[in-house]
Formats: sequence, structure tokens, C-alpha cells
Amino acid sequence: MNRIVYLNGQWLPEAEAKVSIFDRGYVFGDAIYEVTAVAQGKLMDYPGHAARLKRSIGEIALESPVGDDELLAIHREIVARNALEEGLIYLQISRGPADRDFHYPEAPVPTLSLFTQAKKFLVDGPAVINGIKVISLPDLRWGRRDIKTVQLLYPSMAKMEAEKRGAADAWLYEDGFVTEATSSTAHIVTADGRLITRQLSHAILPGITRGSILDLARANGITVEERAFTLEEAKSAAEAMITSATQMVQPVVQIDDTVIGSGKPGPVTMRLREIYRDFHMAHLI
Ligand code: PLP
Repeated sequence: MNRIVYLNGQWLPEAEAKVSIFDRGYVFGDAIYEVTAVAQGKLMDYPGHAARLKRSIGEIALESPVGDDELLAIHREIVARNALEEGLIYLQISRGPADRDFHYPEAPVPTLSLFTQAKKFLVDGPAVINGIKVISLPDLRWGRRDIKTVQLLYPSMAKMEAEKRGAADAWLYEDGFVTEATSSTAHIVTADGRLITRQLSHAILPGITRGSILDLARANGITVEERAFTLEEAKSAAEAMITSATQMVQPVVQIDDTVIGSGKPGPVTMRLREIYRDFHMAHLI
């Protein structure tokens, strides 16, 4: 790979972008991130991602090293410099380098980095055509999952466990209720076509795709219920799906040993995928 990346105001070949070993992102996982999808060389659902980034920065008491206009300009420039047609932009802000101390440094100099990753997500691949299988695992992450921090070791462990058991992903549960998937929002559909999605709280990340899907579902006459659902309810649902920026809407056809509905991607799921893609492809910036 020979990407051009962004690091603290500089555009650099990826091999030349270096961050201090004292960076608090490296030592403490003291960093937040954001992922924005790119389609046709433009940004998808960007305002939502920019707003969540601002929120994450505020929740860890940092200040953004760049303003709103500059942030958008950087996103556009990284797409252009890498001639990225389809894929994602990863952005990370850490509290920057400091002597190792649990206290935040008084005058932090945040590290801001962005890179691109090519990924085909617009055309329906096998995961969409056939649906995916997930396993269930206890949610052992920390209690502020609403902040998009880089502390992703447990989700990685869960993904590896899923792979080991022949599944594509894991749905995490707490007190019997599904929280979310390792890197996406979990949803189910009832036999009478209602879309059930866990309500926002500290237990889950406020998925930008989640918010958009709920708005689009309501606008298209699909009844939405924002409430927690148990693993048992999920297993007896008519349909199940996950949503995220770079997966959009993806059908889930098996949870553990239980086949969901007909075992094929459900009609509400596929309709939502189409509605989401059509809407956001028409609103790229
Ligand atoms: N939940 C978790 C834990 C995630 O990591 C992600 C995406 O990375 C999501 C949900 C979906 O968020 P979004 O729709 O903003 O991509």
C-alpha cells in the first residue's frame, strides 16, 4: 500500500507517518475515532459522523485540533489524494504524547490522524445475498460504549471467537438483553414487520447508520420500536440484521444454532438496505 495519510497537519506517505511511543492513544487507549464511508469518491452520511466525533471529543474532555470546515476539507482532500472511489476514511484523535500519568496532561497536544481504506460495500456480496451467521457472547466491554474509543480489544476477541466457531460476527448480550454486534448495531424484525432496535444509552454506540435507518424506516411506513430485546426474542424474530457505515444493512440469518425466520435475508431487511443505499447515494457530499 502506498497511501497518503494525514498526521497533525501534514500529508505524508504512509510509511513516513510516525507517532510517539508516549502518545496516550498508544499507552492508555486514550483516543477516540470515527469511520466515514466513501462512495463514488464522496462522503456518505458525513454530517452524522462529524457530529458524533464532536460528541466523542467532548465526552473525553478534549478539544478538537481542527474546526468543522477544516475537518470536512481534510476528509475531501484525503479522498482526492488517494483517488479513493469506494471505501472508508478512518480518523483518530488521541490526547497526544505525555509522560505516563493517569492524570490528563494540563495542556494536551492531540494527535490527529486520518487514513483511507478501499472497500467494496455498495454491490451486494455473498454476506448480503446469503446473510450471515452470528454467535452470542457476553458483553464484557466497559460501561461507556456510547463513546467511540479505540479500546477495541474485546470486540476483536469476540470476532476471533466467532471466526473460530464458523460465524461472521458476534452479538453481545448483557443481563440477557442484546446490546449490539462487535462493530455494528443489532436489529430484529417482528412477524408483523416492526423494526426493533435497542434504545440509546451508555450501553451501545449511537450508530449513525442506526439513526438514519430508523428515520428512513419511519418515513417509509415501517413501525419502529426503540427498546431492549432479549437473545431469546432475537432468536424467535422473523428477521435480524446489523447496520454500520461500511456494511450499511446486512442480514443475519442464524444466531448460535437457531435459524432466523426462513433462513434467508428477510424482506424488511433487504428493503431497508435498498432505501438506505438509494437515499445516501443521492445525498453524497
Ligand atoms: N456499534 C459498534 C460497537 C460499532 O463499532 C459500530 C461501528 O463501528 C456501530 C455500532 C455502527 O456505527 P455506525 O453506523 O456509525 O458505523
